Amino acid sequence: MDKIKRLILLAVPMSVCNFRCNYCYLTHRGECYQGKQPKYKYSPVHVAKAFSQRRLGGPAFFNICADGETLLAKDIDKYVYELLKEGHYIEFVSNLTITPVLKRMLAWDKGLLKHLSFKCSFHFLQLKEKKLLQIFADNVHKVWEAGASANIEMTPCDEMIPYIDEIKKFSMCHFGALPHLSIARNDGTAGIEYLTQLPIDEYDRIWGQFDSNFWKFKKAIFKEKRTEFCYAGDWALQVDLASGFAGECYRHRFSQNIFKNIERPIRFRAVGLCPEPHCYNGHALLTLGCIPNFTNVKYGDIRNRVKEDGSEWLQSELKSFFNSTLVESNREYSEKEKQIIKIKNSVFDVMKLSVKKVTRRK
Ligand code: SF4
Repeated sequence: MDKIKRLILLAVPMSVCNFRCNYCYLTHRGECYQGKQPKYKYSPVHVAKAFSQRRLGGPAFFNICADGETLLAKDIDKYVYELLKEGHYIEFVSNLTITPVLKRMLAWDKGLLKHLSFKCSFHFLQLKEKKLLQIFADNVHKVWEAGASANIEMTPCDEMIPYIDEIKKFSMCHFGALPHLSIARNDGTAGIEYLTQLPIDEYDRIWGQFDSNFWKFKKAIFKEKRTEFCYAGDWALQVDLASGFAGECYRHRFSQNIFKNIERPIRFRAVGLCPEPHCYNGHALLTLGCIPNFTNVKYGDIRNRVKEDGSEWLQSELKSFFNSTLVESNREYSEKEKQIIKIKNSVFDVMKLSVKKVTRRK
């Protein structure tokens, strides 16, 4: 059975979406919904070579997500296809309403589809308003029938509360289980806070009824500053699909272009201390093991649900890969190595800050 060697957050820079969700964190940025497609500098075949198992050290978990609806990103299916052919496992984030592209992907060989999971964002209010609920449900079934995996995730928001009974009924009828819940966050705040007007105990009481282990894990780490040594940058990378620029996690301390010269090895350098207010996507980053042995909670388990008929949302081979952790296939640093990295990183930060100040003065 394959085990995860690296975690790649593959960002697709574009701004096209057929939805306008009120909680979408992209609306907190200036560049949302401009209708711009990605300007890819490298072909799908080149990108797959850049991410070869030889270069990464083994099979990787890819999370592919666009700054809009991922299925609307030009040629995205071609990139996914080449990465699957390279033997990687892919989590593809989508609102699952763009049927023609989805159908093209689901016509691939079953062996490839076993490694593909759709994170189906269940935007209930937009789906209802646009009369797309049935299409969403049908597409989830198409994914399962083709032999890929689909998991349903809803972002709870205050405006959805009057529809909770309807959501539950629809989910049990079409997905055989309740959706998992994410946490709507306010990226416009310095601390990246909850996006809700409710007092937190009321918020917990209302959304707790979905009994989502995914949400429970997210809640447990939300707003908790991480102080442990983090291996993002070595065991994980965040990469821009259009340009190939890569960094450790969401903030790039050491930026490098990993598509430009694919004969050159990638420089894997751990971030050490987390620069973020909290690990808001730790449901993946931490369960997959950027901080070794941080939790016993496994990613595949919290993404999965067992349906009323006993079948599961995630296909078994993929679930087993999603349940492996980075520490199983990577070497942990010695305490001395960790200290050296922390010192080097803080020296680098101070130098970067001084360069910025000098440039600003100019
Ligand atoms: S703790 Fe989470 S957010 Fe912080 S650097 Fe590590 S992976 Fe990134």
